[in-house]
Amino acid sequence: MDKCSFCGRDKKDTNLLIAGISGHICDSCIEQAYEIVQEELKKNNEFDVNSIKLLKPVEIKKFLDLYVIGQEEAKKFISVAVYNHYKRLMQTSRRDEDDVEIEKSNIILVGETGTGKTLLARTIAKLLHVPFTIVDATVLTEAGYVGEDIESILTRLLQVADYNVEAAEKGIVFIDEIDKIARKGDNPSITRDVSGEGVQQGLLKLLEGSVVNVPPQGGRKHPDQKMIPVNTKNILFICGGAFDGIDKKIALRLNTKIVGYTAARNTSKIERDNLLQYIAPQDLKAFGLIPEIIGRLPVLTYLHPLDRTALRNILTEPKNAIIKQYIKLFKIDAIELEFEKEVLEYIVDKAIEFKLGARGLRSICEHIMIDAMFELPSGGTDKMVVTKKYAEEKLEKVNIKRLKVA
Ligand code: ADP
Repeated sequence: MDKCSFCGRDKKDTNLLIAGISGHICDSCIEQAYEIVQEELKKNNEFDVNSIKLLKPVEIKKFLDLYVIGQEEAKKFISVAVYNHYKRLMQTSRRDEDDVEIEKSNIILVGETGTGKTLLARTIAKLLHVPFTIVDATVLTEAGYVGEDIESILTRLLQVADYNVEAAEKGIVFIDEIDKIARKGDNPSITRDVSGEGVQQGLLKLLEGSVVNVPPQGGRKHPDQKMIPVNTKNILFICGGAFDGIDKKIALRLNTKIVGYTAARNTSKIERDNLLQYIAPQDLKAFGLIPEIIGRLPVLTYLHPLDRTALRNILTEPKNAIIKQYIKLFKIDAIELEFEKEVLEYIVDKAIEFKLGARGLRSICEHIMIDAMFELPSGGTDKMVVTKKYAEEKLEKVNIKRLKVA
């Protein structure tokens, strides 16, 4: 007599018994299993900080390594900051006996555009399953001026959290181009600086943690709109900026410090072509961030400019590397795609020659591959090898201006 291998019921006691290779399952076990699956999926999709498996910093960094090439120091700092952030969240939900309160470790990343700042923030959010949003500081203005209010940052976070306020309050916000709200000039200005200091003051409220009334649909506040209060105390803010010209401020600081004999010996160790590695909070101040903001961004780290080797690795190494993506795209059409090694070097050469950085790699590849992607799915081919000659032919036709990425 056949039995359900899960609940042991005889076939006659079930409505339906489905046979597998080495067992059976009855209809009620299927239903129950389905419910469990749904429940689990729901759990995974929900932003539930208590269900987060807290990874150790080393594990967080390992995960970042899968997606982000190089940038060792930034990865290490972020891993620790995120780990501490979540320990802190757990502490606040548990209420400890002692009064030691772990302070928030908002992060500021300094590095040229296209070196992986946003990628780092995105990857962290992917790992943590918490609401995550990217906002551009350039659109922010002081309340009452044209542009977006500071609160709009939180509107976005609420939207991605599906208006689950509790989840949003534990989310991560990446504020890009924070350098663009720097005060113009080192002296506090007497004239109003709509997009600079005023915005920084507004931002300060969010960074330090306070209850902010957020317009649920964004846009300008108007009297009849119902506001949603959001506490930013536990929101992790990651700020990023290129801070063009900050190397001069760093050099100036290093030089002015270097007076006298002992100091002169130290200077020989300074690597002049990578000054960012010496970045310190006072350089951000010299650049025009107000000290209060700097104080609220205690984790300061930098990203290296990408060199040839890094660019070459970005093409093929990350988990979702550009080249891997093309191979997968073609595989769906049952076409085996191969890139000659020389082509990869050629793509990197062009990215460097046209000063396109990592972002340019993708647009170069797109132009090389567009004809093949257009024609090959119609059939007749099951293998394509991209040679350097092929790549050159395709790229020569393209106007360099079209390769530039915003
Ligand atoms: P940023 O925010 O610093 O301006 P992004 O993180 O947006 O730069 O980088 C742009 C793109 O370049 C990314 O989507 C990614 O494809 C690629 N990229 C940049 N830096 C790296 C890196 N270190 N590792 C892997 N890919 C990178």
